[in-house]
Amino acid sequence: MAFRDLVGNERVKCALQGAVRGGHLGHSLLFSGPEGVGKRQFALALAKTINCPNAFEGDRALPDSCDVCPSCQKIERGEHVDVLVVRPETTFLRIEQIRSLCEHAYRKPFEARWRVFIIDEAETMTEQAANALLKTLEEPPAGSVLILLTSQLARLLPTIRSRCQIYHFTPLKTAEIEGFLRKRFVRPEEEIRLLARLSEGRIGKALSMDLSVYREMRREALELLAVLSAGDRVRLIRAAEYLGRRVDREEFERRLDVLEQVLADVLRLQLEAGDVVNADIVAHLRSLAVWWPPSRVVRFMEKLAALRRDLWRQLNRQLALETLFLAECDAQP
Ligand SMILES: [Zn+2]
Repeated sequence: MAFRDLVGNERVKCALQGAVRGGHLGHSLLFSGPEGVGKRQFALALAKTINCPNAFEGDRALPDSCDVCPSCQKIERGEHVDVLVVRPETTFLRIEQIRSLCEHAYRKPFEARWRVFIIDEAETMTEQAANALLKTLEEPPAGSVLILLTSQLARLLPTIRSRCQIYHFTPLKTAEIEGFLRKRFVRPEEEIRLLARLSEGRIGKALSMDLSVYREMRREALELLAVLSAGDRVRLIRAAEYLGRRVDREEFERRLDVLEQVLADVLRLQLEAGDVVNADIVAHLRSLAVWWPPSRVVRFMEKLAALRRDLWRQLNRQLALETLFLAECDAQP
């Protein structure tokens, strides 16, 4: 994608394009911001723009890639020899990966004007790897641009941070994500609206999210709340067994997320506060709001939060859920 097709973070976009136009783009850049807000796409758009022979053509106020020339196409497909993306092969970026990158950086570009090295998840560099990169960041080779990407700026060594020009990325607005999804995909409006609200401002999340999985988890959450409303102890014990036993911790937490999301929507409706996320099931949420007065919703959400805090311990999830559900059942008005 070219800069003109990227949504959000307009300030960063203008700053980068302005620096290209003014000829003062730094050689060591650091893109910092939450996962999924477009840092990788911005880095690729920049790599294309500084290498595109048509970047300054047409009526563009700011340089941008044409997206059709051989150079742009190769970068888009990840096949350009002068644009390399390095990412951790396992948990860490190893010193060997960084050393090899630094060696490449001092060679002349094969076919491009600029060699671009994108270091993804830069915070996963081992200390040795980070130290190996310092010299290249300090005295960047003439024809090379290094772009470090991170969602955890604080984990990078201060010596790395201080040698880079830092660009801060922020989550996108819901309307921006909606606009992007509408332009790129043919999907029912209801789905676009839901995806944009579930994405928490992260376009990457909106693109990778499987709505059918989410809806299935949501159906289970609604069923659980219905059983709690009815005070059916036998079914509650069965639900605790189902949720506690079946899934790994990550999936378990995702289910808690969905349950909390639904409860938060019920509260929003009751208090007439804010935009409901699950607007496609608003009638169902309204009926829940009858059984669950705000005080009860808040109380149950607090209990869920406490359960989540205890998850790091080797907690017996099934037992913890059973206790939580039955206590909620006994305490209901
Ligand atoms: Zn081009």
